[in-house]
Amino acid sequence: MKKVALIFSFCFVVFSCNKGDRDSQSSNSDKYTDNPKLVVGIVVDQMRYDYLTRFYSKFGDGGFKRMMRDGFNCKNNHFNYVPTYTGPGHASIYTGTTPKYHGIIANDWYDKVAKKFVYCAADDSVLAVGSDSELERMSPHRLLTTTITDENRLFTQMRGKSIGISIKDRGAVLPAGHTANAAYWFRGKDEGNFISSTYYMEELPQWVVDFNASETAESYLKVWDTFYDISTYTESGTDLNNFEGGFKGKETAAFPYDLNALKDQNEGFDIVKYSPFGNSIVADFAIAAVENEQLGQDDDTDILTVSFSSTDYIGHNFGVNSKEIEDTYIRLDNDLERFFKFLDSQVGKGEYTVFLTADHGAVEVPSYLQSVKVPAGYLDFDTRRKQFRAFLEQTYGTTEIVENVSNNQVFLNKEKLEELNLNLQDVEQAFVNELITYTNIAKAYTSTTMSSNNFTTGIESLLQNGYNQKRSGDVIVVNDIAHIPYGRTGSTHGSGLNYDTHVPLLFFGKGIKQGETLQKTVIPDIAPTISALLGISYPNGATGKPLEFVLD
Ligand SMILES: [Zn+2]
Repeated sequence: MKKVALIFSFCFVVFSCNKGDRDSQSSNSDKYTDNPKLVVGIVVDQMRYDYLTRFYSKFGDGGFKRMMRDGFNCKNNHFNYVPTYTGPGHASIYTGTTPKYHGIIANDWYDKVAKKFVYCAADDSVLAVGSDSELERMSPHRLLTTTITDENRLFTQMRGKSIGISIKDRGAVLPAGHTANAAYWFRGKDEGNFISSTYYMEELPQWVVDFNASETAESYLKVWDTFYDISTYTESGTDLNNFEGGFKGKETAAFPYDLNALKDQNEGFDIVKYSPFGNSIVADFAIAAVENEQLGQDDDTDILTVSFSSTDYIGHNFGVNSKEIEDTYIRLDNDLERFFKFLDSQVGKGEYTVFLTADHGAVEVPSYLQSVKVPAGYLDFDTRRKQFRAFLEQTYGTTEIVENVSNNQVFLNKEKLEELNLNLQDVEQAFVNELITYTNIAKAYTSTTMSSNNFTTGIESLLQNGYNQKRSGDVIVVNDIAHIPYGRTGSTHGSGLNYDTHVPLLFFGKGIKQGETLQKTVIPDIAPTISALLGISYPNGATGKPLEFVLD
């Protein structure tokens, strides 16, 4: 703030003879004191850009359409790295950079130092709060850089609050950042509660205890049928087809779904996560958080991060083209409208700023694409593994020089290489030469290539932005387009192709222009844009640029 003030007084002196000084001075000083009271970051898990346009005619006026109409729509917004997964996605949105710098290289990855698999948000040094489960011990300790939420906390002397909310732990913990007041996520199974971590608190605040006791989760164990008459859902495929998973205990993946009847065979309250009601309960909880934590009620900007994850579970289960996905977005649109109306009355119309994006997109179900003659398919990892092991035995007399293969990366055993007197770069190159001959492997690169070049375009630049020298593997492969390691029903994501990278980016509310652009924007631009809006520091590793055409 001091620096800003100095610059201002300098400008004032230089231009003091100009007409209208007083006006420009007062509007300039407003600019840095009249911040939004609340910034809400919304991430819709697995939301492709075309869901905005495909389902447009089904949306009401107060949700997605309100943001598109009154806010700014970046229509050509992409992820600029691989892999396009949830953990890296949330980290990149809030840190303004890519896995190369923030270090969240996947959801789970092989830790070369600890020589074990790690999960992006798991932390053995903390305990869950609100659950006894050993599987819910979470913190942001693997995130290497600061988030926009951290920078706002630092800027406001910790007066501005940061709270993260999601169904998924990583969707709450990573956006909320290192300095958060709290992150809350949903524990399903036989609990059905929002929980947190000793990283933030010793016990749940009373309003969270009350929310959990209110049986809101129980109320969503109801029948999921289409919101409108299913015959009007002309933007998606037939309800009954061979491309969808469905729930255990129900023969067909077709409406309606009686969640209460199906819950025992589908992990109890987890079935709420796998329905659009998982988004509804997140909206309910976000509203309770704004009310009870008095977010947006004073001059220090608060940041609330809300991640809607049920869209991802439903996409994985039913696929991009399903009636279930269409219905899920119609219902999410209703939840957004309800949330925005609440913010209008609680914080005030025009007093808050919202951005909405996604953590990745998704490919159409490959078996569906095949049925309409689009090149697509499934990866046969068993055959690939056998072929690779045979190569290792034949060439090096042992498979032990490979420590781990995961996330399309090969991790070499450096001790074994030394023992066998093998040169790392020679082995990397030999692996590339071998792997590129395999079915459905389209490209292969060495870590030496990644760290000794500066790629600016194409898949190579996406791989490089996703490559973290300390954490990533020694050889990286890229699979054929629209080929996934998956069952024949449902969809997934992870590639650098447009179906995974092209996602919505909408800004709306205080300080935001009305408009749209087809100019390319990338995910790491979001956090610097919010920094510029608030006049605060960029997250410390940010590599994106503020989108000045978005700001008023
Ligand atoms: Zn997913």
